[in-house]
Amino acid sequence: MEGIELVRVRLPLAEEWSSSAGTFSHRDSLLVRAVLSLPGGEVEGWGECPALPAPGYSSEYTEAAAEVSLRFLVPALLGANMAGAADVAPALSTVKGHPMAKTAFEAAIADAELRAAGVSMATYFAGASEIEGCVPAPSVPAGVVIGLAGSLAELLDAVGRYLDEGYRSVKLKISPSFGPAPELALSAVRSRWPDLVLAADANGAYEGLTPEEAASELSGLEPLGLAYIEQPLGEDDLVGHARLGRLLTTPVCLDEGLGSYGLVEAALELGACSVVNLKPGRLGGFLAAVRVHDLCTRREVALRLGGMVETGVARAANVALGSLPGFTVPGDLSATGRFFEEDLAGPLALRPDGTISVPAGAGSGVEVDRDLVDRAAFWRRWWPAG
Ligand code: MG
Repeated sequence: MEGIELVRVRLPLAEEWSSSAGTFSHRDSLLVRAVLSLPGGEVEGWGECPALPAPGYSSEYTEAAAEVSLRFLVPALLGANMAGAADVAPALSTVKGHPMAKTAFEAAIADAELRAAGVSMATYFAGASEIEGCVPAPSVPAGVVIGLAGSLAELLDAVGRYLDEGYRSVKLKISPSFGPAPELALSAVRSRWPDLVLAADANGAYEGLTPEEAASELSGLEPLGLAYIEQPLGEDDLVGHARLGRLLTTPVCLDEGLGSYGLVEAALELGACSVVNLKPGRLGGFLAAVRVHDLCTRREVALRLGGMVETGVARAANVALGSLPGFTVPGDLSATGRFFEEDLAGPLALRPDGTISVPAGAGSGVEVDRDLVDRAAFWRRWWPAG
């Protein structure tokens, strides 16, 4: 290893983004650049911390991720005897929490290592899986998440635009306290597009209600044929979700509540969800995510890959992970252009059949736009190894 660089970037979003986790007009992201020194020259790899600028999704946020990285994670990595990406999580295990920050380091080192070896991330993740015959798919179904809309007209306009672009799977953020009522919003979308793969994500907005109260609040969504309703109750309410799941016919999906392999296992044992939304950043890395993929595959639980409004750096790695065969429900995998006019890495193109090709090139298989990184960067720090 030659060294590690932390880069904080601020990139304008193509349009303002709102969910129960907050409203943003820019993506303030922490990137990690890992540089390896090889006989043929230097190879670099990039990772992105998916933490949002404010701690509205989980306790992590970008500035705290940068702080814990420079004070603890980088010194732990540079002090460890590492042979590759598989050694990153063990090297960082003395630092508790901060899974999103840790994920960026694992991704950057995997990207560099795989670029040097000429292996794609999809092939690498499939190789890390313990499922027999695990082969990555050449393409993944694209999916678009639509943030909380101010009005029904705005929402229908947004859904129509994405369907025109070629998306075939839509997830709406819902909140009982912002914008059109969830039942109204989802009914309007369903009646205009009867065959659309449609789902709802509450980001825990019904926290505080009993499962019975939440079931009553959500009963209007039941006839709409939703693929699932994601994280209606609070993050730690696995028991509540299990009770809610028995009261609804719509499948319950968990996201925020599944912060580790053990919690996913507990949720499945309790029957707290029938769909798992997997995010590598929530689990502390892509290799941890492959383990959860394997768990869900063995238990035949529906699995999807979630997004965090990431730049192309993280989305390319997510597409690679999403190519594993256990991902049976369309994820939050959107093409270049969904979130940013100009993206830091790409291309990830939406194909006419509503899928995205899995990059086949070495590493993440996309090119990082160094000029754009330089323009978007407002803080960076380089640590030489050794
Ligand atoms: Mg979610």
